[in-house]
Amino acid sequence: MATPSTKLLYHDDSYLSTFDAEVVAVEGNALALDATAFFPSGGGQMADRGALLTAGHRLPLTGLEKRDDVLWHRVEAEAGPLPAVGDRVSGELDWDFRYRMMRTHTALHMLCGIIFRDFGAQVTGGQMYPDRARMDFAIETFTPEFVRDIEARVNEAVASPHEIKVYTLPREQAFAIPDLIRTKINLLPPEIATVRIVEIVGLDLQADGGTHVRSTREVGGIQVLKTENKGKQNKRMEIALVDGAQ
Ligand SMILES: [Zn+2]
Repeated sequence: MATPSTKLLYHDDSYLSTFDAEVVAVEGNALALDATAFFPSGGGQMADRGALLTAGHRLPLTGLEKRDDVLWHRVEAEAGPLPAVGDRVSGELDWDFRYRMMRTHTALHMLCGIIFRDFGAQVTGGQMYPDRARMDFAIETFTPEFVRDIEARVNEAVASPHEIKVYTLPREQAFAIPDLIRTKINLLPPEIATVRIVEIVGLDLQADGGTHVRSTREVGGIQVLKTENKGKQNKRMEIALVDGAQ
């Protein structure tokens, strides 16, 4: 029998830091639940950290793996007896880590939106880390003035906040939006009937599965740490969040 698909609670509510669920399958030290708030990594965002609580035991997560529609939670088996199918568990996210990821992810979308809006340059890749993030742009030059200017424009959009909306659109409707076409929405597998959209109102629109804050104000601010030349039409920018500014 196929393992029931996992309801991805973070798709509808990125701010869930705890949740309750039922175990629907066990494979070695990996558990499938009927629902989860843990983000499994993807689109440059790192996998969540945290633990599952069951019958008085705390089972720290060692990994998250999404296979088809099922998200497997790998746990430290030595931490206690594993729950069985049908048991209830609670999930507890490492919220400090996740909230930083949300702020960082939104910051990267702001950067992406601003560089495209003002300079017409497209993003070619990106990756988040606990303390920084990098993004690659199809652009010929990054002068120090340009970099300071971009940093200032992102921070302006933090100071005069933009709302962030998350919703889904039918595939055909999403494919007709020019802003989404530029973000390579056409690479989505054909079996996907609806597309999850993350919109920074007035700034950026992307098909995205990640978790984001509700307002650009929560990003707090960014600073550009460095830039790198990765080729004639490829420049990398590394940023960090500015803390304590919210
Ligand atoms: Zn994203």
